[in-house]
Amino acid sequence: MLEKVINTLKNSTRYKERLTHVEILPIKDPIYGNLKKELPQKIKDYLSKKKIKLYIHQCEAIESLRDGKNIIITTPTASGKTLAFNIPIFEKLEQDKKATALYIYPTKALSNDQLKVVKEFEAITGINVNPSIYDGDTPTSKRPKIRESSRIIISNPYEMHQVLPWHYKWQRFFSNLKFVVIDEAHRYRGVFGSNLAFLIRRFRRILDLYGSAPQFIISTATLANPIEFSERLIGVKFSLINNDGAPKGRKYFIFINPYFDGVGTLSTHQETKDLFLFFVTNNLKTLCFTISRKMAEIITLWSKKALKKSKGYMDKITAYRAGYTPKERRVIENNLKKGRLKGVVSTNALELGIDVGSLDCVIISGYPGTIISTWQQAGRAGRGVNESIAALVAFQNPLDQYFMMHPKVFFEKPHEHAIIDLSNPYILSGHLICASSELPIKLPNDMKYFGDNVEDLLKALMREEVIRDTVNGWVYSGKGRATEAVSLNNISSEIFKVICDGELIETMDKTQAFREAHKRAVLVHQGETYIVEDLDLKNRLVHVKRRDVDYYTEAMKSVDIKVLKEVYKKEIGNFFVYFGEMEVNEQYIGYRIMRYDKVLGIEDLDLPPLIFKTMGLWFNVPAGVKRKIEEKKLDFAGGLHGIEHAMIGIMPFHVMCDRWDIGGVSTSLHPDTMTPTIFIYDGFEGGIGLTEKAFELFSEIVEMTFELVRDCKCEDGCPACIYSPKCGNNNKPMDKKATILILNELLKLIGLNKKSF
Ligand SMILES: [Zn+2]
Ligand SMILES: [Zn+2]
Repeated sequence: MLEKVINTLKNSTRYKERLTHVEILPIKDPIYGNLKKELPQKIKDYLSKKKIKLYIHQCEAIESLRDGKNIIITTPTASGKTLAFNIPIFEKLEQDKKATALYIYPTKALSNDQLKVVKEFEAITGINVNPSIYDGDTPTSKRPKIRESSRIIISNPYEMHQVLPWHYKWQRFFSNLKFVVIDEAHRYRGVFGSNLAFLIRRFRRILDLYGSAPQFIISTATLANPIEFSERLIGVKFSLINNDGAPKGRKYFIFINPYFDGVGTLSTHQETKDLFLFFVTNNLKTLCFTISRKMAEIITLWSKKALKKSKGYMDKITAYRAGYTPKERRVIENNLKKGRLKGVVSTNALELGIDVGSLDCVIISGYPGTIISTWQQAGRAGRGVNESIAALVAFQNPLDQYFMMHPKVFFEKPHEHAIIDLSNPYILSGHLICASSELPIKLPNDMKYFGDNVEDLLKALMREEVIRDTVNGWVYSGKGRATEAVSLNNISSEIFKVICDGELIETMDKTQAFREAHKRAVLVHQGETYIVEDLDLKNRLVHVKRRDVDYYTEAMKSVDIKVLKEVYKKEIGNFFVYFGEMEVNEQYIGYRIMRYDKVLGIEDLDLPPLIFKTMGLWFNVPAGVKRKIEEKKLDFAGGLHGIEHAMIGIMPFHVMCDRWDIGGVSTSLHPDTMTPTIFIYDGFEGGIGLTEKAFELFSEIVEMTFELVRDCKCEDGCPACIYSPKCGNNNKPMDKKATILILNELLKLIGLNKKSF
């Protein structure tokens, strides 16, 4: 039936050119597995009562945990990952009546979901585990009882950070701890992930004191580097469980490109609205994901207007977003499940965990930034073995357009690398302060948790008088609670607080504050928009007001770079690329006011320069290449500039991050290298491993950057290839032909000169 719908799209004049790709993901039969040793009768009863037959990956997970291994499970959403670890955990807790398990979830909604699942498991099997959530909302009066009696505790990283100094109250739970589950672990990457990695090391150090070494279970979406990621996050060896045995229905994954002609007559939002109407009026239950709450509202409004004439459908569509009350949300979820609603337009608030029954179609309006999110959203349609459609509608920006032109890359390449960086001295210092307050730090023993450079950092902290060297080891000697020195979402100690109506809504690093929270910026927090009224640098406060606006802002900066230390140098063919420490001087000079990719205006900013040390890569363009470009009467500097922008645009495909997390500079003559040079750096103090990974994947990134610019249909450059919204030089100078030529020359030097154009 859905094949007919796809064919209608293919053959319509409206969509013929816009529909740039149809990928058919075939039906997949289930693959069941066997266990070497039978499960306890109580668990067997549970499975038969729920009519569950175990898939191969679930059996592999169970056997690996029985063998005492740490596992990372990366099978897709809805493949039964939770069951794969709940079974062996309950089996162990049944055999060992003292054994305990800790589950860590990133959000409250997911913790609540898991509590329900565990409670049901307990009720049906009769295996007594007394599960509880223990987080910031747990009343003080209930806490001792939970610590004393629960055998499964569900918490989150923020609570764990607060709990660790009080470890002696957790003696029973910690000393019997057999498993630690870290679910949705792909969320722990970048700054948050690096903080979590040290939090876990603090935790393992304390567990060691209580004589326990639990097995770790990581559950995550598919990553390009699951083993590297899990071993960096936890610091122990892992086995990978990725042999997915769950069945699947046929899925048509289609790409719609409003900018197929390089111009785009209708915006992405209008195209989304039309496709949404097409599906809904074809009586298909459709969920549409938008990148902002405002877009969710507008697309719903436009759709309702358009449906005025066709009776019956207008009341069957609605918007859904974070700002709605829980009650409003439950009503929408229920109506969608029961079929009373045909179409819902939502922010990613609906992406995870929430059950809305089986859907026919999902529209993803704009690439959500990661392949993981794209698949998670697409996975909302066609639960079980049902047929479904997923449609990605592209924006006019580099990655969206790259996928439109190279769909194979999207479907065949492995997913992104999730980066955990253990070498940021600012992040590590904060956790050393916390660790020293939990338990004296002893060297060399604790180097296994905190690395080989720990002594230098401890000495520096001693000079700041927050840590003392005693006969028992290094201990905390600062004022106030040590845990307050660390915010899991940030890097430096210079943390800015965002305040709305006297209430703290989030915290950010100084670099982020300059970039996203300058005066009059539109700050997006959990899908809601706020206007920044004041950025108070002295007191590190950002004052915001909640405002519904239909525009957004993008800060523009100019950058200077000083190379401080070359750490690695890599020779690829006849080409060199470098990685090292640098000092960045970012000057925020103004900001653009944007609406749907159109510039409404540009305003000046008056901020002091932001100077920080970070890590980055750089490479030189040989004089011979420069001559070639100039002989062709092309603009060499414009070519370098184009490469810098396009490369930054393409990087989030390889390294999971936001385009804004990376900065760059290009110059025809840099004083530190005395040659034409391009620099790409981590936009965070101390670096968080992004460009280090890019350094590793350098030739792939150059190749993809080349393809992006070469294949873009524009004449002289556009936002889909070499133009950058954050460019402090207003995208000048810029030369698309020179960009392509230089990249082609670089590929020749690297040894990848098979391309023609
Ligand atoms: Zn272009
Ligand atoms: Zn620029």
